[in-house]
This record gives sequence, C-alpha cells and structure tokens, in this order.
Amino acid sequence: MKRSNSNSKQRKRSKKSIEVPVVLWNTDWDRQQITCTQCNQKYLAWNLLFDCPDNQLYLNCPLCTIHLMTVDYSKPSKFTRQMSDLTGDDVKYYDNRINRIDDLNRIKFLANVQKSELKSADQLPEINSDHIIIVWRCNEMTEQIEICHGNIILWKEVRTFQHHERYLKVGQILKEKYGTRLKDFVPHESTWLYLYGDYGPAISMVKDFRNSLQRGNEI
Ligand SMILES: [Zn+2]
Repeated sequence: MKRSNSNSKQRKRSKKSIEVPVVLWNTDWDRQQITCTQCNQKYLAWNLLFDCPDNQLYLNCPLCTIHLMTVDYSKPSKFTRQMSDLTGDDVKYYDNRINRIDDLNRIKFLANVQKSELKSADQLPEINSDHIIIVWRCNEMTEQIEICHGNIILWKEVRTFQHHERYLKVGQILKEKYGTRLKDFVPHESTWLYLYGDYGPAISMVKDFRNSLQRGNEI
C-alpha cells in the first residue's frame, strides 16, 4: 500500500513538472482541440490515444505518444451531485459521457486481453515428458487464466467471460508445441463459469477437443 501511494505521489509530481492540463471528465474535454507540444499536430481530444492509470485517463499524441492531457474521473460524488441538478437533454448528454467512459474502459480491457494472450508455440517452454497433461485454471486473486504443467505456470492470460473459443485456440497452440505427447488439456473447475458462460454447446466443444487429444490428435 505504502509503495503504491508513493508511486502515485511521484506521478502527480512529475505531471506537475511538465504541466499537463488536468480536466474533470464531466466537462467538455472530448471536444477540445489540443496541439501536441512536440510535433505541433492538432487533434480533437477524443481522437487521442489513451491509457487509464488509476481513475485517470491519460491522453497521448498518436504520433509521438507524449502525454498531452489528463482526464480525471475519480470523483463520482461530485458527478452525482451535479447530476441531481440536471434535467432532460443535460442528463442525456452526461449519460452519453458515462457510456463513453465505459467504452474506453472496455477498449482498455480488450487491449490488455490481447496483449496477454499466448500467440505462438515459440512462447512455450520445452517439457521433457511423453505424457503431458496441461491444466487451464483460474487465479481468482489476479483474475488471470494460468496455463499449468504440474506446479509450473507456462503462461498467464487475462480472463474473459465465455472464453471457450480462447481455450480451443490455446489448445491448438499446445498441440502444435507438444504434438501427440499432449494427452489432455484439463479445464480446472475454477474456470468453468467463465469458460462456458451461458453458451451450452461450449461444454461439448471442450469435451470433443479433450477426446481428440486422448485419441492421439486426429483433429
Ligand atoms: Zn505529437
């Protein structure tokens, strides 16, 4: 806890020193024109690249990635108070703004998912065994999927909802790496809810894949 506090203080200090403007998210920040201090390109704030540390949105130049503006959406109480004073079109306008922040969070989440995914067999270690059983399990603390061989974690990915297609994709990469030595790819109980979600056929898709491994990789 202490460490993250000091980090955020540091961040605030360094932000001040380069004088990046900080605006509240329930203002017109997305319609502002911003000129990049490095490349001099003009942008509509909404079109800038972003990342979201803590409850802030850092808007960055798409060309030089320099940090140009911070949008602070960490103060819901202030927003709620303002909402109570609003009616009609104003409320619609602010509702849209909430949806936009939700969109941004979703985009950020998906970017993290993509970044974390196992992409090729080269990223996996060699395993010296002729009978390899790999487990797909979930770490509830980190909300990550851990791909394990015994006690060894081969890979970690961000967990998503109803991710049977991801399980099958990873299964193919495991097959590519370990060939017929891969005898099973076990979805641990901790993943079932997120693995199958609300999609009934997912159960038999996973089962078929595991059967194919036991039969010796026919499909
Ligand atoms: Zn720039």
